[in-house]
Amino acid sequence: MGTDSSVGSGSLGDIIAPMVIWSTLETSCPICENRVRLREVGSGFAIGQDSDLLVRMEGKHIIQAEVHTCLQCHFSGFGADFLRTISPAARRRFREEVSPTLVDDAAALEAPAVIPRQPQKSRASSTRPEYKRTPLPDIQYYWAYRTAETLALPPVAQGLRLLRAYWCLRLDPTARLPVPRLKALRKLYLRGAIQKLRQGVRFEPDPNLTYLIGELCRRNENYLLAISYFRRFLEREGGAMYLKLAAKKLLDAARNRVPDALSMEQVLYDGSGEHKRRSAKPLPGQGEAPGRPAANPRSSGSGEGTRPGEDDLPGDE
Ligand SMILES: [Zn+2]
Repeated sequence: MGTDSSVGSGSLGDIIAPMVIWSTLETSCPICENRVRLREVGSGFAIGQDSDLLVRMEGKHIIQAEVHTCLQCHFSGFGADFLRTISPAARRRFREEVSPTLVDDAAALEAPAVIPRQPQKSRASSTRPEYKRTPLPDIQYYWAYRTAETLALPPVAQGLRLLRAYWCLRLDPTARLPVPRLKALRKLYLRGAIQKLRQGVRFEPDPNLTYLIGELCRRNENYLLAISYFRRFLEREGGAMYLKLAAKKLLDAARNRVPDALSMEQVLYDGSGEHKRRSAKPLPGQGEAPGRPAANPRSSGSGEGTRPGEDDLPGDE
């Protein structure tokens, strides 16, 4: 350590590379009373945003610190979830029906129904040595979603946990998983997030949620749905201005059936990065040239460039 970088605040290093600050406090799991350490996040440093609203950060991302897991029963969630009062019936249901299915394994995630139910072991923690490590953050968020489902939290709360699981796939160390596994997880989380957010959006006052669903649908290649949600977002009042701009361009990407992951910077400022049409064949009724910026998306309902029957049916509101 250099002599001039001693304690104290306000050193240049803090300005150049602000840190995420953690503190821990201990509580007990509301299901099994096992001890759980909660980290609290002090601050982070944003360096950009992806078009699905993931804020990119230097170093370890705040969302990776905000999720907690009981290593004994796998109850997972935000700090506040550990402080909830949970009814004895819900506690029993979690312990007997959910906890045994929360296994840190890809196959189990894809087919949770076929996992044989294990006999409930006593509360002694020594019986599950393999569970002593905290799983990767995306798994923690997936378990947090399962936990939220058991606690009957609103669909949007469930969907946002799945969205965070999906975001975590972009962050180290999860991002270093083998590609096929990442692909399977992406599908699982993205589908689930879309389904839950669509279920809950009509009860949510935040207009930006409509944008988010549109963009998640585009990334999941549900183009008709994406178009429908982007339109709804553009037509309604409220919502962030930069998201309105982004929605116009992403609407065009959805019409051209481009599912690529994009950063907000690319969407808003990179005119040359306008997406190329994915398939070579032109779609009937399409007037615009490929690669042209979509400054003026048509407001009429015709000529979307997508054919019905390939997506889920749009529009339920
Ligand atoms: Zn527990």
